[in-house]
Amino acid sequence: MDACKEINESYTLAEAVKEAQRCLRCKVPQCKAACPISNEIPDWIHELKMGNFGNAIHIIRSKSNLPAVCGRVCAHERQCEGACVLNKTGKHINIGKLERFVADFDAEAGLTHFDILPKTRGKIAVIGAGPSGITVAGDLSRNGFQVDVFEIESQAGGMLMYGIPDYRLPKDVVLREAKHLEVLGVNFLFNRHIGIDFTIDDLLEKGYDAVFLGIGSGKPRVLDIPVTKSGSTETSNSPDCKDVILATHFLRKVQLCHEGLIEREELNINDGDKVLVIGCGNTAIDAARSAVRIGARTVDIVYHRDIDRMAALRSEYEDALSEGVRFNWNASVVEVHTDSNDNMYEAVVEIKDGENVTRTVYPAHKILMAVGARPSTRIPNTTHGIEVDEKGFIITQQMPYGMTTRKGVFAGGDVANRQATVVHAMADAKKVAEGIIQYVDAIKLMKIIEGSNS
Ligand code: SF4
Repeated sequence: MDACKEINESYTLAEAVKEAQRCLRCKVPQCKAACPISNEIPDWIHELKMGNFGNAIHIIRSKSNLPAVCGRVCAHERQCEGACVLNKTGKHINIGKLERFVADFDAEAGLTHFDILPKTRGKIAVIGAGPSGITVAGDLSRNGFQVDVFEIESQAGGMLMYGIPDYRLPKDVVLREAKHLEVLGVNFLFNRHIGIDFTIDDLLEKGYDAVFLGIGSGKPRVLDIPVTKSGSTETSNSPDCKDVILATHFLRKVQLCHEGLIEREELNINDGDKVLVIGCGNTAIDAARSAVRIGARTVDIVYHRDIDRMAALRSEYEDALSEGVRFNWNASVVEVHTDSNDNMYEAVVEIKDGENVTRTVYPAHKILMAVGARPSTRIPNTTHGIEVDEKGFIITQQMPYGMTTRKGVFAGGDVANRQATVVHAMADAKKVAEGIIQYVDAIKLMKIIEGSNS
């Protein structure tokens, strides 16, 4: 199996038009209602059907800064496609695949033309070039704001770049979307570490009217699992075991390896390893499928709930199953055994079946942990006046939407505990962009009034 090759085939032009022709262009479109960013689905499908591809991408881009990404990684089955009326009588319209077709066709034909406004309305700093940051930057730039995006990595995309494997989302697609923002006038500044190279206070002192924090929740959660060393009475804890690896770190390394920036040997999983993955969200499934692709002998997902409560999409689960990933429901890893050289060789898994609890020993060389994440403490530690809740998520308000306890500083997406999919992060970021516009317009108006009264 090619570790990088995109798994889903794109439509040909004829196939896309044929699929678009099935759309009923419903008067009250349930697909649009179920889309977190209210994408004007029937309208652009209609333009596609008529062969007006430029109009189609124009309509899509009026709501989304990341159509080629959404077309590939959105949870369509739970959103637009799940709500399509044609589900009742046959098969829903393949909205995601059509959106991907339009965005990819645009990339080939260069159909996107933006109306670029002069950047006179205000100056905004966006921290983080992931889905939230890209969305805020795109929406504000379109509304006449000068936007500088400060990104810790050397390229845009955030978790789109390092958290979703290439076979689901090729990285040139992400970079292509970021390029559109540059055309809009957004300025990217890479390799800038918030809290190390600069602080929010620095930005506000430099004259930015507002700052948006779209930094995600970069501190993965870890479970404490006892680790027993063979031939010893020593017991340690899983965070200290070299063979218990964070799934997000593993996925990042896989991507760096694809880019040729690190060697295959630096990936934590070796050819022939037996791997357990703890968790059953999309990160867990991505990590499991990536482990299969790089040569793990067996990959078992161990999840403490049943299949109906997994966070992963059903389609992702089915794809993983067909690629050989095994699923263990109502199961938890309760102990890990290492040899005298600290290499893991087995894990004890507890399985609950009603009142019955059984324990099984699984041969295991590596465990990938994918049990959620929390924000880093760097922002509240380096910025005065930003309050966080008991779990470390930044507290924000409804009016103006997304503003933190520090005036002029906004946050959205994962860091503000609105964790969800890429498109939910985008939807939240769109609301925060509106909040920023309200705030900046209001303070500028106040200054004009104060100036005229003095
Ligand atoms: Fe077309 Fe389905 Fe949306 Fe109706 S609900 S407009 S058929 S995609």
